Amino acid sequence: MSGIASRLADVRARITRAAEEAGRDPAEISLVAVSKRHPPEAIREAYEAGQRDFGENYAQELAEKADALADLEGIRFHFIGHLQKNKAKLVAPRASLVHTVDSLELAQAIERRAGANPPRLLIQVNVAGEAQKSGVSPDEVEGLVRAIRGGTSLEVTGLMTIPPAEGDPRPHFEALRALGDRLGLRELSMGMSDDLEEAIAAGATYVRVGTAIFGPRA
Ligand SMILES: *Cc1c(COP(=O)(O)O)cnc(C)c1O
Repeated sequence: MSGIASRLADVRARITRAAEEAGRDPAEISLVAVSKRHPPEAIREAYEAGQRDFGENYAQELAEKADALADLEGIRFHFIGHLQKNKAKLVAPRASLVHTVDSLELAQAIERRAGANPPRLLIQVNVAGEAQKSGVSPDEVEGLVRAIRGGTSLEVTGLMTIPPAEGDPRPHFEALRALGDRLGLRELSMGMSDDLEEAIAAGATYVRVGTAIFGPRA
């Protein structure tokens, strides 16, 4: 087994164990392999090991990799970085899910540029109210979801968060879960290499894992 294939197997085992410990069906949790700043060959290797969902943070990089890997049937790209409206044209036709929507204007730009298979949208929530972090505050989410549903034909299916780098992530994961429950948004994108177990315990349906699969980034 290659390095990537064996690390991928380890991560899948962690997901299964965490789901079982939380009394959840592991099939409810999708692994998004975060391939940012790793070459297309690394994605190809993970694909050969059965991985289909890949996360990218930079619009140009997603576009280049998606085009270079267009021969891989059933591959799905997730956009998980901050997206500027003028970069929507790179992402919208190529992504199956955009995890980081934070305004109606961005959703409209995605819709305009999407083509036949528009991505589904998650709203990025700044659960801890960190000044430097993108995402909307928890009390803005309901209004934004309503505005996007009224102002576009795109589907908003859930919420995404990145908890503060320091401290216990669990209260932030729990807060996202509670917000999702209250608004009927069933998909929750939370948890990375170091905290995927805590995120799954709190209800994550997408975990975004980079380093534990692909190793350190350049
Ligand atoms: C880079 C990144 C990840 C993956 O982080 P790792 O610690 O390498 O698993 C997940 N989510 C987002 C939004 C990221 O930018």
